[in-house]
Amino acid sequence: MKHFISIAIDGPAGAGKSTMARAVAKELGYVYVDTGAIYRTVGYYIQLCGIGPRDVDSVTRLIDEVNVELRYPEDGVQHMILNGQDVTDEIRSPEMSDYASKLSTLEVVRDFLLDVQRDMARTHNVVMDGRDIGTVVLPDADVKIYLTASAEVRARRRLAEFQAKGDKKMSYETVLRDIRQRDDRDMNRKIAPLRCAKDAVRLDTSELTIAQSVDAIKEIVEKRLGR
Ligand code: C5P
Repeated sequence: MKHFISIAIDGPAGAGKSTMARAVAKELGYVYVDTGAIYRTVGYYIQLCGIGPRDVDSVTRLIDEVNVELRYPEDGVQHMILNGQDVTDEIRSPEMSDYASKLSTLEVVRDFLLDVQRDMARTHNVVMDGRDIGTVVLPDADVKIYLTASAEVRARRRLAEFQAKGDKKMSYETVLRDIRQRDDRDMNRKIAPLRCAKDAVRLDTSELTIAQSVDAIKEIVEKRLGR
């Protein structure tokens, strides 16, 4: 059976995982899998049903109604298809960030998504980003990177993203508080908490530009893959 290469990039919210992972995937001709988007898509459905993110019984009852597909049209963006409908833009609000972060603490949700993620890696060369890719989803990944930056730097980057999208209402203090809350939940949840895998290379991008970070990641990947 053909061995597909997998590169796992984990780290806290706003560390630049998606920017880096997308750039590295493009360069290598691999598929970029944004697993946070998968959690957001499930969250979007459950939230539309009027269910709170901690209501385990209702989530357990509803989760089998969720069908998530990942599509990669020409624009290179990972499109999220929820029960046949494209929800790529809808899942990006700050409310969905918070909802997905709470929902992702539930075992039933994490179990449900494990197969979706592993199937992608079984059938494609992937650069997969998330919180538990190197530790739980793909413990045998060929390359593991733990990408991080200080909470302040990550908040400034997130704020710039909101402003670039035309959202001028968001304040630095709000973004920083949201990032700290998500860090706390992601790192301290019981199941699959955010951790640097033992065999991951840790990269702090606080002082690096995007181009420098991409170069640093490419160097790690080339070294690990022996290229
Ligand atoms: O990466 P993103 O911010 O889009 O992820 C949304 C939320 O989904 C995160 O705050 C995290 O709680 C959860 N998540 C997770 N495991 C992953 C990816 C995301 O728990 N592999």
